[in-house]
Amino acid sequence: MYDVNRVREDFPILARQIYGRPLVYLDNGATTQKPRQVVEAMVDEYYNVNANVHRGVHFLSQQATDLHEASRETVRHFINARSTAEILFTRGTTESINLLAFSFGEAMVKAGDEVVVSAMEHHSNIVPWQMMCERKGAQLRVIPMTDDGELQLEALDDLLTERTRIVCCTQVSNVLGTVNLVKEVVRIAHERGIPVLVDGAQSVPHMSVDVQDMDCDFFAFSGHKVYGPTGVGVLYGKEAWLDKLPPYQGGGEMIKNVSFEKTTYNELPYKFEAGTPDYVATHALAKALDYVSGLGMQAIEAHEQELTRYALEKLQGIEGMRIFGAAKQRDAVISFQVGNIHHLDMGTLLDRLGIAVRTGHHCAEPLMRRLGIEGTVRTSFGLYNTKAEVDALVDGIERVRRMF
Ligand code: PLP
Repeated sequence: MYDVNRVREDFPILARQIYGRPLVYLDNGATTQKPRQVVEAMVDEYYNVNANVHRGVHFLSQQATDLHEASRETVRHFINARSTAEILFTRGTTESINLLAFSFGEAMVKAGDEVVVSAMEHHSNIVPWQMMCERKGAQLRVIPMTDDGELQLEALDDLLTERTRIVCCTQVSNVLGTVNLVKEVVRIAHERGIPVLVDGAQSVPHMSVDVQDMDCDFFAFSGHKVYGPTGVGVLYGKEAWLDKLPPYQGGGEMIKNVSFEKTTYNELPYKFEAGTPDYVATHALAKALDYVSGLGMQAIEAHEQELTRYALEKLQGIEGMRIFGAAKQRDAVISFQVGNIHHLDMGTLLDRLGIAVRTGHHCAEPLMRRLGIEGTVRTSFGLYNTKAEVDALVDGIERVRRMF
C-alpha cells in the first residue's frame, strides 16, 4: 500500500501555510519539493565532508570524490545505462541538451543537414538545436502532432532524409502530459542509422526509465524535477557516440595533458565535465533517486496515474473547462483553460487560496501556436499529492469561475 500521508511527512514544506491556508503544491512539472533525506545529505556533506573532488590526496577530498562517483553509479543503475562512462553530470536538462547540440553539431553537422524535433518540445529542446543549425547552416524539421496531442509518427519516416543527423523528442510533454512512443521514434530513426535524443525531464520523476531498453542514443534529465537539488542534471550518451564527440567546455578535469602547443582530453565521462562539478548536488541527487527507488517507481506511477484520472474526471465536470491534450497514454500533467478567464487571473486567484499552479506558455511557444492559444493553467502532480488536493483545486477553480 502506498501511504501518501507517510510520504508527505518527509517533505517539511508541505506543512506550510500560504495566506493562512494549507499549501496545495501542484507545480511539480516546474520543480519538485525536496525530502529531508536530500536536504540532510547536503547539509551533512557541507558540514562534514566538503573538499574539492578528484584533485586531492587528502582524506576529505577522497571521501567527497567517492560520494560523487558513487552518485554516478546510482544514476547509471537508475536509468539502466551500461557504464558510468555514459553518465555525464551537467547543471540540468537544458545544459545537457546545449552540451549535446554544440558537441554533436561540431562533429556531425554540415551545411544543408537537418535536425528533427517534435511539435511539443520545450524551448530547451528547440533553441540549442536552432542555434547549432544557424551556426552550421542546417535546417530544423518538425514532427507534427494531432489535435489530441499525439505525435504523428507515420509522418516521421517521410521527414527523415539522408541529410537528417539527429532526432530529438521529449518522452513526456510538459504541457499536454502526452507520453510519446519514444521506442517507436528510436526504431524508425535507427532504421536509417539516425541517432535519437530523448528529453526525460518530465518522465524520470514519474516512471521507470531504461535507456538500454529504449535504445535511445542520448537521454537528458534534471535533478530538481525528481526531488533532487537544483543545479544538477544528467546527460546519458552511448559510449560509442560520446567517444566521437568533442568536448563542450575547456578547463580543469576534462584534460589529460596541457601544453601551450596542444591539449589532450580526458577519458569518458570527464572529457565533458570541465571545472569543479557540483559534487554536493550530485550526491544529493543520488539520495533523491534512492528515495524514489525506495518508494518504488511503479508505486509512484500508479499513485500519480490514479490521481490524474481522478483530476481529469473532476475537472471535466467544471462548466467551461477546456483541457488540452487527450493522448491515450498520458502522465501527471493537465493543462487547461476555463471559459474566457485569462490563465494569469486564474493562477493568481488560485494562489490566494494557497494553490500553486503554473500559468503561461510553459516554455513551449511553438506548441501554444499549434494549439492556437497564448497560455494555459497547468497542474502537475508529484508523489506526495492527494485527492484532497485535487478537490481543493477543483473547489478553487469553481470559486474563481463564480467570481467571473
Ligand atoms: N524539457 C522539458 C520537457 C521540461 O519540462 C523542462 C523544464 O520544465 C526542461 C526541458 C528544462 O529543464 P531545466 O530547466 O531543469 O533545465
